[in-house]
Amino acid sequence: MAKKKNDSTGTGVHCSFCGKQPSYRDLMVPSPIDEAYICSDCVNQIQGMIKDFVEMEEGPGKQSRGNDAPDSNKKLPTPKEINDFLDQYVIGQDDAKKYLSVAVYNHYKRLSQKTDDVDIEKSNIIMVGPTGTGKTLLAKTIARQLDVPFAIVDATVLTEAGYVGEDIESLLVRLLQAADYDVKKAERGIVFIDEIDKIARKGDNPSITRDVSGEGVQQGLLKLLEGSVVNVPPNGGRKHPEQKMIAVDTKNILFICGGAFDGIERKIAHRLNTHVVGFTGTSEREKVDSDNYLKYIAPQDLKSFGLIPEIIGRLPVLVHLDPLDRDALLKVLTEPKNAIIRQYEKLFRMDGVELKFTPEALEFIVDKAIEYKLGARGLRTIVETIMIDPMFETPSSGVTELVITREFAEEKLRKAYLGS
Ligand code: ADP
Repeated sequence: MAKKKNDSTGTGVHCSFCGKQPSYRDLMVPSPIDEAYICSDCVNQIQGMIKDFVEMEEGPGKQSRGNDAPDSNKKLPTPKEINDFLDQYVIGQDDAKKYLSVAVYNHYKRLSQKTDDVDIEKSNIIMVGPTGTGKTLLAKTIARQLDVPFAIVDATVLTEAGYVGEDIESLLVRLLQAADYDVKKAERGIVFIDEIDKIARKGDNPSITRDVSGEGVQQGLLKLLEGSVVNVPPNGGRKHPEQKMIAVDTKNILFICGGAFDGIERKIAHRLNTHVVGFTGTSEREKVDSDNYLKYIAPQDLKSFGLIPEIIGRLPVLVHLDPLDRDALLKVLTEPKNAIIRQYEKLFRMDGVELKFTPEALEFIVDKAIEYKLGARGLRTIVETIMIDPMFETPSSGVTELVITREFAEEKLRKAYLGS
């Protein structure tokens, strides 16, 4: 809302709530629809009244209402609605979107089940796909739509309790923080465990020596995934006897794991070949899309890669992500609701500058991202490099329109990378 600093020079402006004539230090906030103002004192008072009201409704302190849906005031979106929401932010990945929408819908429906005759089991999710194809983005966007606490943790920092590194429980600390230490809320949140492939067992046979960062961590994760009450050190770090723990029940937390699983295509291809030769001959084999083996991924491939069967069993929803081709990368630049180019346009608009990229400039940026093998992850870095000078100069230059051409982009990148 627009804010107007008022002076005491007798403009006739007064607070429409308390009638006070403001002093020069008072902030007067004008109504956007009427010739009315409210002074900062009244705003403060109203804030207090709202707080009292909320506390009266919910009880003092931070206590959620213990409802079952992500937020009881909101209707749980249907799988189609979740999918449509994802479409606004994520390009392509239609299969993944569909599986995720259904799994997430079922998860939160499961939380609201009242009878206990048929117990709906939790369906944690595992997403497999090259880096920078939108795994984190998908998980983050779902959490945003459902308005539930969301935490991203990296599996590579986890080790078995007692070893150097973070205890498995530490991944719940982030969730608690995201929920503002509201335990009930955290217990209905979503945890995204990135780089789950990095804790795969090295080699196909169970190790006889201890595999600190691999199988041991997978064993530790098991109890979290299936649901148990875990004592979490509120500020993270190691458990100290003197530290007060927070008990968190993971039964209703949705875990989404993601990983690139580099090289898993070979295992899939191997399985498909032996399978196809053995059963249906060459005609079936011709149908296999050898450019994208990932779409045939099955749980046994995860096992060949080194995930233990118990973990695989607790991640029953297995989805793959497709690599992003040139077209998809172009769309990533401009189409999502918070697309990179839109963000820059907004930044410049705030300074009264109309920013435009020519189609050739956009294609150049995408080609460079492909050339540097950075995928979608690199788009922002490249745009940032191109835009650093304009962002530095434009606010004080008085220009009102700026067009980024291919030549301009080429020049900026050439200079930047020669310099570095
Ligand atoms: P990862 O698959 O490695 O988890 P991320 O989801 O972190 O990849 O993607 C990195 C960045 O690339 C995101 O912030 C987003 O801007 C962009 N991005 C990646 N994939 C997509 C996609 N399918 N649609 C839109 N943006 C994407």
